Amino acid sequence: MVAIAGALQHALDQPQSHHVIHTDSLTAIQTLASTQPKDNVHLNTHVLSLAQEVKEQGKHITLNWIPSHVGIRGNERADCASKHATKRPNVDMLIPPSLPQTKAKTCASSFPTQTQVMGGVVFTTSTWYAMATQYQPLSVDKAVPAHVRTYLHRLRLGYKGTRQMPDINKKEECQYCNEVSNEPVLHYLLRCPGTTTLRTVSPASPPTTASEASTAAAKLIPATPTAELVKLVSVRPPPR
Ligand SMILES: [Zn+2]
Repeated sequence: MVAIAGALQHALDQPQSHHVIHTDSLTAIQTLASTQPKDNVHLNTHVLSLAQEVKEQGKHITLNWIPSHVGIRGNERADCASKHATKRPNVDMLIPPSLPQTKAKTCASSFPTQTQVMGGVVFTTSTWYAMATQYQPLSVDKAVPAHVRTYLHRLRLGYKGTRQMPDINKKEECQYCNEVSNEPVLHYLLRCPGTTTLRTVSPASPPTTASEASTAAAKLIPATPTAELVKLVSVRPPPR
């Protein structure tokens, strides 16, 4: 689109009455053909207004699509020129990011919030879910009340809960033993004196890194009989 704008600008300054602009961007042509650009509105309307000016000079513009990378001389030269332009020391044209670019950037930057780098290993909520559920649906007796099921889901969905996402270092006090921890779910599963029934077998070697602790905690869930879990969370719900 920037190149088309450049070509139109050039056409404005030339005496010829007919100009042909070749582009390999079908998207650009389609965008210009639409009467109401929805994205990159500033650039699109700039190109359209230049085209309008050319028309007002009584000149005629043909926009021609050509396939890319097929050895058309001018096309290859344009590719070279655009590569060369990226190496300039200064930015001489600012184009605001398009809507899809903004969306992609938002997704990419929210990813670190969803993941935690623990002991050098990225431990995600999906890692937890895989370990804690082994991708099996929760199967509990019909008599188990809904709020107890919710507690079980909370443990299965795991670490860390959405409530902690905005402030990953927020500390919370355990309601059963008053220990203050910034990983209340890990504390609940691995250390809390109020949940010893979860840990009937002591691990061969206690976890040393945060990642090992998360792994050990997640694995406790499928390792504990569901009836035991139901019994525990009914009396001592897990932290939110
Ligand atoms: Zn505790």
